[in-house]
Parts: sequence; C-alpha cells; structure tokens
Amino acid sequence: MGMLDGRTGVIFGVANSRSIAWAIAQSLSREGMRLAFTYQGERLKEGVTELATTLPGSLILPCDVTIDSEIAAVFRTVDREFGRLDTFVHSVAFAPKHELEGPFSETTSREGFKLAHDISSYSLVAMAREATPVFEKNGGGSILALTYYGSTKVIPGYNLMGLAKASLEAGVRYLAAELGAKNIRVNAISAGPVNTLAARGIRGFTTMMRHHEKLSPLHRNVELREVGDAALFLVSPMASGITGEVMFVDCGYNIVAV
Ligand code: NAP
Repeated sequence: MGMLDGRTGVIFGVANSRSIAWAIAQSLSREGMRLAFTYQGERLKEGVTELATTLPGSLILPCDVTIDSEIAAVFRTVDREFGRLDTFVHSVAFAPKHELEGPFSETTSREGFKLAHDISSYSLVAMAREATPVFEKNGGGSILALTYYGSTKVIPGYNLMGLAKASLEAGVRYLAAELGAKNIRVNAISAGPVNTLAARGIRGFTTMMRHHEKLSPLHRNVELREVGDAALFLVSPMASGITGEVMFVDCGYNIVAV
C-alpha cells in the first residue's frame, strides 16, 4: 500500500523524460498518487502523452501558464475527473535565451523581464488561486515549486532567472502565510543543477555542473530520483508541519563558501 493511495495531483512542467517534473511524477505515482499532466502546445503533446500513459489513470491536459483560462480549465477538469485534488507541482520556468547571455544590465530587457516573471513566478500565484477551492473540498492540500540557488547568490549566466526565482520564493512564502488557514501547505525545492532542456539555455551550464560536483560536500551532482523523492516527502503527510520553506536538494552545495 502506497503512502499516497487515493490522492491526486497535477504536474506542470514535463517536457521529456529528463524533466525534473517527470522524476517527481514517478516518485508520487510510485506511492499511489493519481496524476494529471499538462503540456504547452501541440509540439510537446505527443511526448508528454507517451510518458503519462505509462502511469495508470493519468490525465493529459493542455496549459500555457501565461493564459489564465487554461490554468482554470486544468483545475476544473481535474476536479470533475478525479473528484478531489491534494497536490500540484509547479516545475515551469522560462527566460529568453539571449537574455541570459552577456552582461546582466545590457541583456535584460523590459519585455524579457516581464515574460520570465510571468511564466516562472506569477503562474504559481495563478495556479494557487484556482487550486484553492478544489483543495478545500477535501480539507487542504500541498503545493510545490522548483527553484534554484541563483535566487539569492550571483551565479554566472543565471542573470534574469535569478530575479524570477527570488520572486517565486517570495511567492511561496506569501502563499504559505495566506493559505495555511485552509490547511494548504506551500514549499519549494531548490535543486542542484540537473542536465535538462531548460538548463541547456543557461550559458556555462556544464561548467556549473562540474563546479558543483567538485565543491559540494557529497562531491557529486544531485540525481533526478533524489529531487523526486524529496518532493514526495514535502507533498506527503510526513511533511504536514512544513510550509513556506525552500528546501535545498543540492548535495549540500549551498552550505559551502566558494
Ligand atoms: P524542463 O524539463 O525544460 O522543464 C521546464 C518546463 O517549463 C518545460 O516543460 C517547459 O515547456 C515549461 N514551460 C516553459 N514555458 C511554459 C509556459 N508558458 N507554459 C507552460 N509550461 C511552460 O527543465 P527542468 O530543469 O526540469 O525545469 C523544471 C523546474 O526546475 C524549473 O522551474 C527550473 O527552473 C527548476 N530547476 C531546474 C534546475 C536544473 O538544473 N535543471 C535546477 C533548479 C531548479 P516547454 O518546453 O514547452 O517550454
């Protein structure tokens, strides 16, 4: 019997089998959670469907997180099809690649700033608003977002994404403070570097991984499975006393002065 039998969740942000969202989905599904997956645009539909159908009972829904009506439709459909909602995972981020290259003050445009914050941070608030009434039907829920250390420290090449992640983490705290009264917990995982599609948009990403491997207390990079299992802990009843936290899953890199 799984720890999450009878529970349901929505996963935003599976692009392919290397996505952090997919690792999280596998951990949650292993413990019995039934999942809905979203994809952005037809380009990703086939790949997400292929992965999702390997997990029994999954739903696959379109959602561009810049469109409020699509976010609302996801939670309406999940409510109708699953009859309850316990969790959603926000594993979505974007900044135009050219805005992450070159000096921060020169390459960060007003439009790029708005888009990065819209997709990577505001979307969490929009999702939480739509999920809340569905969570309330079964007495609460849990929300999990993915962030990175570049929110608080300057990481070469992370630039604009660092600002978007700082905003996302503040959002986690404000949502946690508000929604706690409804027994809805909101947390984030700050993952060490993992070689995914989104990560490849960051200049010098391979160097960043080597650096982490060399300097982190565990002398290696984090594995996708480890991020998935930490997510499982945070959304499960085992973490019922934890909200508003940013938990590092980075082989300890953040504790080292470099
Ligand atoms: P990924 O597989 O590329 O996932 C990023 C996801 O965001 C993709 O599914 C992408 O879809 C989606 N997305 C972008 N714009 C969207 C939009 N407008 N509407 C809906 N979805 C949209 O990369 P990942 O590394 O697993 O990233 C997942 C999360 O982990 C992100 O928040 C990232 O910042 C965070 N994180 C990653 C690392 C790392 O080293 N990889 C470390 C710490 C935190 P498209 O492909 O269609 O754009």
